[in-house]
Amino acid sequence: MQTIWSGTLRKMRSIHESPVRYFLTDGWWEQENRVEDHELNPYLGRELMIRFGGKINCTACGRATKKTFNQGFCFPCSQSRAEADICIVKPELCHYDETGNPCRDEHFAQTQCFQPHILYSSLTSGRKVGITRQPNVPSRWIDQGATEAIPLARLADRRTVGQVEKRLVDDGFRDKTHWTRMLKGNNEESDLSEFAGRVLEKLDEWKIEGVLPEAERASVKIDYPVEVWPTKVSSFNLDKNPVAGGVLQGIKAQYLIFDSGVINLRKYTGYQVEVDVADG
Ligand SMILES: [Zn+2]
Ligand SMILES: [Zn+2]
Repeated sequence: MQTIWSGTLRKMRSIHESPVRYFLTDGWWEQENRVEDHELNPYLGRELMIRFGGKINCTACGRATKKTFNQGFCFPCSQSRAEADICIVKPELCHYDETGNPCRDEHFAQTQCFQPHILYSSLTSGRKVGITRQPNVPSRWIDQGATEAIPLARLADRRTVGQVEKRLVDDGFRDKTHWTRMLKGNNEESDLSEFAGRVLEKLDEWKIEGVLPEAERASVKIDYPVEVWPTKVSSFNLDKNPVAGGVLQGIKAQYLIFDSGVINLRKYTGYQVEVDVADG
């Protein structure tokens, strides 16, 4: 075995090429002390091992922690940092000007919440709607394992787009991905443009402003580096067994697909690991 990378896990960086290129990316809290990214695609078909040495550090403050909260935060940071606030998971609950409960951080509010957001439809395990900040297109789609996405509208800020999404969900449009299904293969039968058309009809009916002109609603296709799809999906758990790996058969969303199981690297944000490859 030869060590190819050791660092603190966070979600992999990706580049939208065909197929997507994935990089192990260091999540160490101090930017200047991060190790370099390491591309994983060249290891497809080879035996790879992830070894967790038992140390977890908060990705916001560096504090050693036994357990992480909201993906990568120590408990105090999960309670105080704006990046761990409710609006990250429930954008419609962004509470910037609520008296008694204002945003935790003005800089975060201005650079994250009060920035244009895109409402999109995507095809993951099925057809869904979602939202993301404009600069996260298309990485957000790659992170969720979408094989196709269509941007639909641009709205002024996080809460406004969150409220539209919430209304769509209440109206029966899905916003979740069934991850085991997403990992078993690409959903090729579904017609995303038909679904996008139904979302657009609703936006029109509700008089939502910001619908993109047709030329900007082009479908984006995403192709993942997967050689073999798992027939049954079992996942590694670094908290129970500190070693995960096998022959790397694919990468989709934030999952590494091994012949012996899958692992969601993002789930282990803050975990210090060493990644080894078998010789030959
Ligand atoms: Zn912390
Ligand atoms: Zn917010």
